[in-house]
Amino acid sequence: MQNIVVVGGSIAAVTAAETLRLEGFDGSITLLSQESVAPYTRVPLSKGALAGRESLEDIFLPSVSGDVDLRTGVRADSLDLNNRVVHTNSGSIVWDGLVIATGARARRLAPELREFVVRDHRDCDELRDELVAASSVLVVGGGFLGMEIASTLRQLDKSVTLIDREPPMQRLVGSIVAARIRDVALEAGILFHVDPGGVELFGEPGSRPLGAKTSCGRVFEADLVISAVGDVPNVEWLAGSGLKLAGGVCVDSRCRVRADVVAAGDVASRFLHSGNELRIPSWTNAVDQSRAAARALLHGDAAPEYVPSHYFWTEQFGLDIKVSGPMAPDSELETDEGWNSGGSSLLTWGPPDAPRRVLGWNHHLRPAQLKRLTRNRSGLLRAT
Ligand SMILES: Cc1cc2nc3c(=O)[nH]c(=O)nc-3n(C[C@H](O)[C@H](O)[C@H](O)COP(=O)(O)OP(=O)(O)OC[C@H]3O[C@@H](n4cnc5c(N)ncnc54)[C@H](O)[C@@H]3O)c2cc1C
Repeated sequence: MQNIVVVGGSIAAVTAAETLRLEGFDGSITLLSQESVAPYTRVPLSKGALAGRESLEDIFLPSVSGDVDLRTGVRADSLDLNNRVVHTNSGSIVWDGLVIATGARARRLAPELREFVVRDHRDCDELRDELVAASSVLVVGGGFLGMEIASTLRQLDKSVTLIDREPPMQRLVGSIVAARIRDVALEAGILFHVDPGGVELFGEPGSRPLGAKTSCGRVFEADLVISAVGDVPNVEWLAGSGLKLAGGVCVDSRCRVRADVVAAGDVASRFLHSGNELRIPSWTNAVDQSRAAARALLHGDAAPEYVPSHYFWTEQFGLDIKVSGPMAPDSELETDEGWNSGGSSLLTWGPPDAPRRVLGWNHHLRPAQLKRLTRNRSGLLRAT
């Protein structure tokens, strides 16, 4: 393999390119990003960047090595697997190894209404500008993104209503922890509305939405409406290539699509033993998966399999929450004294001698320590 093309312009693409070099690959690496700016991290876009504390310059990822050919403003439009060519908006590029790292984009509830979303730096800049004149904001979606946006908006002294089909954060941390987060958010002044039937945005086509109507007919109006309702993997450019696309680019246990093509990050969807497919859109997954993908591209079956740590973190309403390990039922939750007294705590799900889920609630443990606690005595992660 002499010529590897990496398609994507963010953390998965950059990590894959750097890992290829660390693993000793000395051929050419070309990194194609459709964004016009150098790769940056999205994590602050719902936090410090939205609050105006961080600029784009502050959130750039460390530059890729000088021997990686980074081409910004280059969008991959299609893939010819037989001839190993990526066709782009500025010509065609031949490869003998390919990394697919095109990530995901924000899902929109009503594209004809031009609702606000927060996915890239332009979304963040535009929203920040509009916030200057707004006093009330409706956030649809109570996952970690919606809750972080709501938290930042409260810091900016906006009146915030958050609507979801289910209690915020519940799908991510279970109902007991979610209820505690909700209490903290209520204290910070967020108004919540849960409607299992979901909402419909309303307004004039082509304009910003004016509000949302719930399935039970309740109407919420606000100066701005932001959707934080999940993401959609960027796979359209692969249509017709012959690659299996089901909820993302389908990869094997080493992130391979075939021997010379790998995929990683928010765009990749992994086969599970259960026959289901799993996409894990989180920062740590993007980093770990792209390392595994780069190794598999170079070393094939000799590369280690990818085992997800299911690690993610969120910062909202003054809380620092870190989670490692796959979702576990509330019935297995063990709390500690810190939790019972309302302080920092380490929550665990499952017995200590088995792989389990661990959550740090304003806890000093570092991510690596938390991940270690997730393993059982034999160092194995809970099977998924
Ligand atoms: C606002 C926000 C806050 C977040 N906060 C957290 C957090 O606190 N904790 C956490 O664990 N995770 C967080 N995440 C999730 C994390 O940022 C993502 O999981 C991560 O960015 C995924 O990286 P990626 O490289 O796979 O994809 P992406 O970040 O989506 O990057 C894909 C890149 O590929 C480019 N691209 C797409 N299509 C093409 C094409 N055809 N040709 C060329 N380039 C293309 C895109 O423009 C983009 O630059 C957050 C995400 C957002 C949006």
